[in-house]
Amino acid sequence: MTNLGHHRVVIIGAGFGGIGASIRLAEAGIEHVIVEKADEVGGTWWANRYPGCRCDVPSHLYSFSFALNPDWSDTYSLQPEIHRYLRKVADDYGVTQRVHLGTEVTAARWDDEAKRWLIETNAGSMSAGALISAHGFLSEPAIPHFAGIESFTGQVMHSAQWDPSYDVNGKRVGVIGTGASAVQIVPLVQKEAKQLYVFQRTPAWILPHRGRPIRAWERALYRRVPAIQRLVRQLVYLRNELLILPALLHGKRLDLIRKMALDHLEAQIPDPELRAKLTPTFAPGCKRLTPTNDYLPALAAPNTELVTDGINELRGDEIVTTDGVARQLDVLILATGFRVTDNTFPARIVGRAGRTLREVWDDDSMGGYNGTTFAGFPNLFMLAGPNTGIGHTSLVYMIEAQLPYIVGAIKHLQDNHVAALDVRPDVQAAYNEMIQRKLRLSVWNTGGCSSWYLDKLGRNSTIWPDYTFNFAKRLKRFDVESYYQEVSPTQAPAQLVYG
Ligand code: NAP
Repeated sequence: MTNLGHHRVVIIGAGFGGIGASIRLAEAGIEHVIVEKADEVGGTWWANRYPGCRCDVPSHLYSFSFALNPDWSDTYSLQPEIHRYLRKVADDYGVTQRVHLGTEVTAARWDDEAKRWLIETNAGSMSAGALISAHGFLSEPAIPHFAGIESFTGQVMHSAQWDPSYDVNGKRVGVIGTGASAVQIVPLVQKEAKQLYVFQRTPAWILPHRGRPIRAWERALYRRVPAIQRLVRQLVYLRNELLILPALLHGKRLDLIRKMALDHLEAQIPDPELRAKLTPTFAPGCKRLTPTNDYLPALAAPNTELVTDGINELRGDEIVTTDGVARQLDVLILATGFRVTDNTFPARIVGRAGRTLREVWDDDSMGGYNGTTFAGFPNLFMLAGPNTGIGHTSLVYMIEAQLPYIVGAIKHLQDNHVAALDVRPDVQAAYNEMIQRKLRLSVWNTGGCSSWYLDKLGRNSTIWPDYTFNFAKRLKRFDVESYYQEVSPTQAPAQLVYG
């Protein structure tokens, strides 16, 4: 097995999280490398290349605060443009040269003797004083098992595993799912397919989309006066934060959203029978709100059928629903989401007690401290970890908020000859209690839907239940007092300062 050496820090993943972490570590003079399983940087914005893939967060907000892009062509960017942006940032900040592409972490084990992480990859092994996992919680496709899927004669593609060489033109296409991915896929596929079947288990709340191309003069202005783009970004950020209080209290403002969505539905779907099928029964915001102007008309198109009966089996080239009707398909697109609360990547991370992070979470629920560190997993930091998710604003904001905290911790290790930092279990438990208390009345917990925000116990281990600026404030400084520390064996006799 090739020895890929020892590093001060190893970062897993070269998406927004990994790239941001690398930039901040480099600024702090901390040696590190990034390992990325794909052959490209970009993370989710490289994996998701389905037709119509676009960010439903405004472009000016969906970027690093320190690397604004005056050249966005639309107020809501398409995937290729976001991917180009990430590649440019990685080049401009020297990240690209630190990335090992095509290198997938298969295991990472904390060595409590040597006080380091031992990391196995498909390209060799390496070790690290600290490990930053930026593997992404929306990176593992959820592939439902339908009876007969193994012998289905058509092509099957998950939205995050799109085959760009597949041409849907003139094909009979099935799409399963009605979430954020499906509402972007359906309009484009409908235009080209001979016949489209959309298999809906639960209708989504569809809001009008406010996107528009950004004019040449606006781009020139942002280029010449970056302060104006920063102001626009700030206004978008503040407007989005207004959604938090009603979401937490499940209150009035959500009624406004409901009305806006119902008006949109009525305007776009004249047929009352179809409209009834498309009217959600849960509270808006319980699942991610999906803005689009093209999805509902695509469902009403003559070559589309909205199928609301459950899926029974796949048989040859047919999909058979519970009412016994068989429909022939050339391709089945699974817009069925991701394994989030049951993500298997944590099964590769083995902590101090020899247990994986997955095993620890399976005992109870996914949880950590500040969404970043985990008791029993010293010197492990996770970007976009448990309860850092947000539905109303940019995840890049949350990732950026974590970076000073992580860099502060790693600097603490380095500057004070500390070998290991392990968050105190009591601190982690109190933190999670606080999170769960705040979530209790929220629309994500009480809105009457099932979503990837909730785990098998019905506990919400994904959403940050407060204003995002409060998350940033919390993580501004590394709170060493919340951690057990072990002094480096090379600097002093191993000194346990636990408990
Ligand atoms: P999702 O929101 O989890 O939706 C999955 C869909 O598949 C749901 O409609 C679900 O139905 C359906 N489904 C799952 N298993 C099924 C089964 N066995 N039979 C029938 N239907 C089934 O997944 P997603 O659309 O990929 O979005 C996931 C997340 O990715 C989003 O919430 C968002 O955070 C992110 N995303 C973001 C953007 C963006 O613009 N920023 C775009 C796409 C995705 P039920 O509702 O009945 O469970």
